[in-house]
Amino acid sequence: MLFTSVPHPELQVLLLADIPIPTAGPVDAEIIDDLLTASHILVQHGVLDAWGHVSIRHPANPERYLLSCARAPALVSADDIMEFDLDSNPVDQRGRRMFLERFIHGQAYRARKDVNAVVHSHSPTMIPFSVTGEPLKAISHIASFLVKEVPVWEIRDVGITQGLLVTNNTQGQSLAMTLGDGPVALMRGHGNLVVASDIKRVVHRALYTETNAQQLAMALSFKRPITFIAPDESQDPKRLDDAWEAWKSEVKKDAGGSRK
Ligand SMILES: [Zn+2]
Repeated sequence: MLFTSVPHPELQVLLLADIPIPTAGPVDAEIIDDLLTASHILVQHGVLDAWGHVSIRHPANPERYLLSCARAPALVSADDIMEFDLDSNPVDQRGRRMFLERFIHGQAYRARKDVNAVVHSHSPTMIPFSVTGEPLKAISHIASFLVKEVPVWEIRDVGITQGLLVTNNTQGQSLAMTLGDGPVALMRGHGNLVVASDIKRVVHRALYTETNAQQLAMALSFKRPITFIAPDESQDPKRLDDAWEAWKSEVKKDAGGSRK
């Protein structure tokens, strides 16, 4: 080990903190713009509010990810985007505040090599399904990525630190284990974790996890047998680029054309 000769643990922490984490380099403005747009779309559709966040894996280095500083997702701009390693240490903090829950992102990227975009939201209809044991599964074609029952993560299995917030790598890793190889995990009494191979897919999934949950709650109120989407009916969304264009244009309209 690098620091076995250091006699005092507190000194070891100081030394580790002094080691600069190399940056994976600059990222295309277009990629950063897509990340900001994703935040704004999810706010507009009520999936994110003053809380919650979206990140992407760094395109040049799979051991880094990009997430905004601690700021409401409706208000984030390019200057707010920070680079982190997978332990969620900042590469270049520059005095910016960081999300307490960034460990959700780092550990999801560490656990899932196929994942390049992550959303953590407090999407409103996640809560009833996370506290009742009522299974959340796809009843709608467009949400067929939820063909398997969405797992529910219980933070008390690993121990709480600040309410139900994920504030360290141990909790983040435990959540990533509950996610397994699926697209979504519910967080009991808190929200969800949504992952995908790219930013457009993660936005689609975060949006339609909420929509499907609302529709399922309505279907359950009918108290009739429910036909869920079957595995052979599941399909990756067609024309996702068209959907992205529409969502993006709505965001731009709302911003009065001030964003490109
Ligand atoms: Zn949260």
